[in-house]
Amino acid sequence: MWPFTRKQKISMGAISYSQVDITEAFGDNERLGPEDWITTVPLNATTKSPESMGLPPVGANTDVVYRIASKLSELRETISIRNDGVYCPVCHIANVKLDKLRMPCPKCGRELLKFGWE
Ligand SMILES: [Zn+2]
Repeated sequence: MWPFTRKQKISMGAISYSQVDITEAFGDNERLGPEDWITTVPLNATTKSPESMGLPPVGANTDVVYRIASKLSELRETISIRNDGVYCPVCHIANVKLDKLRMPCPKCGRELLKFGWE
C-alpha cells in the first residue's frame, strides 16, 4: 500500500513555505547581533503563482499578509529548527533571537513570527 494518505499530501503542499519573507543572502544571521534587525524580502514578489504555494497574493493588504504569515508561523512553531529567529511580515524585518517570538514588533506592534534563515 502507498503509505501516504491524501490528507498528508495536502498538508505537505501547504508547508511548501513556512514564512512569507526571506533574506537576500544565506548566512545573514551569522553576522547579526541579538538587537540587530535585517530587512527581509517578500517571497511572493519572486514566486510564480504565490497563492498556489500558500503565499499571499502580490499586493495583498497588510492584514491579509499578516494573517497568512501567522498561520504559516504556527506550523513552523510546532517544529524546532536550529537557528530560527523571528520576523515581521508587514515591516519586513527579522532578528536572530527566537525568544522574541510573539513579542510585539518594534515598528508596528504586531506579534513577531518564526523565521528561518535558510
Ligand atoms: Zn511590524
